[in-house]
Amino acid sequence: MSEKVFDIISSGKILVSDGAWGTMLQASGLKNGECPESWNLLYPEKVGTIARSYYEAGADIIETNSFGGSSVKLRHYGLQDKTIEINKRAAEISKEYAGKETLIFGSVGPTGKFLITGDIEESEMFDAFAAQAAGLAQGGVDLILLETFYDMMEAQIAVNAIKSVCDTEIICSFTYDSKPDGSFKTMMGNSIEDTLGFMRTNSLRIAAANCGNGFRQYRDFAEVFHEFSKDIPLMIQANAGLPLIKDGKLFYPETPDFIEEILMEFINHGVKIIGGCCGTNPAHIRKIKQKVIEYQGH
Ligand SMILES: [Zn+2]
Repeated sequence: MSEKVFDIISSGKILVSDGAWGTMLQASGLKNGECPESWNLLYPEKVGTIARSYYEAGADIIETNSFGGSSVKLRHYGLQDKTIEINKRAAEISKEYAGKETLIFGSVGPTGKFLITGDIEESEMFDAFAAQAAGLAQGGVDLILLETFYDMMEAQIAVNAIKSVCDTEIICSFTYDSKPDGSFKTMMGNSIEDTLGFMRTNSLRIAAANCGNGFRQYRDFAEVFHEFSKDIPLMIQANAGLPLIKDGKLFYPETPDFIEEILMEFINHGVKIIGGCCGTNPAHIRKIKQKVIEYQGH
């Protein structure tokens, strides 16, 4: 099971993952200040409908509604004692509403606390990620996806915690910004070289980047990453551009048509798993899937 994702992309197949969950949950009625992951217990059918919509758009990979499902995050809502249950349900819901062949990636986001400021102890962080991973593994995820990470120290604790409770394959996806010299770094200053070292240390086989400033920028990231390493498969889940305000409402400028135009450049730079982050929806995923089918014939 744990070799599955790496084996599939190593055989040359491009996989399409899903798009935003937060944006879709808000569209389903999630209110400001409400815990997105509480919906796994309260409204599983609404959560499942999102999974289903991405599956119907052609996604080979569906994530779980568990980005903020660490006990550190759930504590804001008094739900920390339900960490395992919430994450287990997240996995079960995505499995139930996706297809039989769909790969389920358990989403794990950062705690939002900073080790460097002493905001949180390493042991608390470790326990939070271990409980979350245990819940996701119990729910049957195929892989655990750490995403939107920006601090390699936190990512290291998360990887250690996950490995302490299950042997599920792990992808760690960082959020990078482009620098004036053309390099890319995370908010805490971690570079692509740092990422490659981190992957070697932890025997991670798939590199990944998500969120950030959109597909245009991550197209450049893929090109730079590809120069560092032609062998390591890359997963990209970009935002639909940086959000803008129009008529008092947030909107994302990169449309499904725009993404369709630049998609081949991703594939040409070694991207093996392509999906969306904030601001993307099933229409984006449908376009990505169409383009991938045109490219590889199935
Ligand atoms: Zn995002």
